[in-house]
Amino acid sequence: MEQHKMIIGGEAVAAVSANWETVIDPATEDAIAEVPQADYADVNKAVEAAKQAFPAWSSLSPGERSALLYKLADALETKAEVLAQTESLNVGKPIKLAANGDTPFAIDNIRYFAAQARVIEGIASGEFVPGYTSAVRREPIGVVASIAPWNYPIMMAAWKIAPAVAAGNTVVIKPAPQTPLTTIMLAQTALEVGFPPGVINVVTGKGPGVGEPLVNHADVRMVSFTGSTRTGKRIMELAAQKVTRVHLELGGKAPFVVFADADIEAAARGAVVGAYINTGQDCTAATRILVERSCYQDFLSAFTELSQQIRLGTPQAETTDMGPLISSDQRQRVHGFVERAKADGITAHLLGGIPEGKGFFYQPTIFCQAATQSEIMQEEVFGPVVVVNPIDSEAEAIAVANDVKYGLAASVWTKDPAKAWRVASALQFGTVWINDHLPLASEMPHGGFKESGFGKDLSRYAFDEYTIAKHVMFDLSGAVKKPWHFTVFGDA
Ligand code: NAD
Repeated sequence: MEQHKMIIGGEAVAAVSANWETVIDPATEDAIAEVPQADYADVNKAVEAAKQAFPAWSSLSPGERSALLYKLADALETKAEVLAQTESLNVGKPIKLAANGDTPFAIDNIRYFAAQARVIEGIASGEFVPGYTSAVRREPIGVVASIAPWNYPIMMAAWKIAPAVAAGNTVVIKPAPQTPLTTIMLAQTALEVGFPPGVINVVTGKGPGVGEPLVNHADVRMVSFTGSTRTGKRIMELAAQKVTRVHLELGGKAPFVVFADADIEAAARGAVVGAYINTGQDCTAATRILVERSCYQDFLSAFTELSQQIRLGTPQAETTDMGPLISSDQRQRVHGFVERAKADGITAHLLGGIPEGKGFFYQPTIFCQAATQSEIMQEEVFGPVVVVNPIDSEAEAIAVANDVKYGLAASVWTKDPAKAWRVASALQFGTVWINDHLPLASEMPHGGFKESGFGKDLSRYAFDEYTIAKHVMFDLSGAVKKPWHFTVFGDA
């Protein structure tokens, strides 16, 4: 079986312990590769490599860093097919999504941050204190630890690495243990196009064994984490010990609000993609569909019919809409939510369940009329499980949509622009789509409100998160005795 080594200090390396971990194809349950099972000793090596690389990397001109990022994007583009195939195999992701969605978007994100590298703005002025001029320098922070989830590995690697290194930081990234392959390929490609050793390091392994030592490391200046809210809270707790900066992109429970004046067919189609893309393993997945009562039955019929047409199957087939869940554990978790919702007496409108055969597949499942406070309306399932509830007014839609601890993304479906803006502004979510659900853009921020975290990925906002502001104040007078001294200290 092929062994994929970590990237530390410009070298492809095994773990210090020489332990290996098996990587599984979730569609067949077959082992497809082995990666090193790292621990704190490897974390120490990787952070040291990143620390050593930082002075030279942060001293390059933004133009030089930008040029390397463009080269990386170009090189990844030449490997796009193999990247997409690897992602599809490792995540169980339909090849259509890996090849037409995740991979080109990751490359576009890198190009965006290549351009952003050169837009380091400051402000300078002599006006704040007479006789002085001030400047704000945006400086890189140092070694950034990035910890990523398994649902969009190549995209997460791009979102974490590109803005950090564009701003002059060096990175140690820990992909999820289930899905390390494309992150290693990205870091390997960076070396091939000329990134200096130590600028991008990859350590593979589990949360407690690798993630926690990374967060706790004295030389790590920032932790950029995407994953569950539970792990995010743990990371924030650990980071508090050294007041390490954290950037947290956490879970979601997106509302999808359909008003009676919407195009119901478009909304039903949007809901199918929004709910089941990536087998529902998406932090912005449409999981709480709230439909105005007068069109509730029409919407539910259209949505159910489309849900039943979804083609489960081998992720590598062009015709497959939905692959498996990531693991047996994840499937048990999803099934547990479904069983508890049934036991709670919530109407199971379409019970998908577990199909026969190999692979961690799960069929589309729809519940109806669930109470707002029920578990299935409040907790992130991260599988193809949706609730469709009727609502009676705009005010009720807003109240129910906001009545959740998460705040990542939401959508509103209506032909009335004033209503769309009213509702969008009342929703407490980091992204609100109007008449669509899911699309992101490199130029626009993505990130949560409430327990979906804080900090933004993508856009200028993300780039700024990887810099720290420094005020430099310069006395232009050259006076030995500064005029302001006399006003606050000693005699004239
Ligand atoms: P997870 O929290 O279990 O794991 C995420 C990463 O954290 C993995 O690399 C894991 O190994 C590591 N980790 C686990 N415990 C750790 C610890 N104690 N210390 C340090 N690292 C630790 O999440 P997951 O199951 O891999 O991913 C699914 C979650 O990610 C969902 O909740 C989803 O909503 C969220 N997500 C959010 C976004 C977003 O942009 N907000 C995007 C994708 C996924």
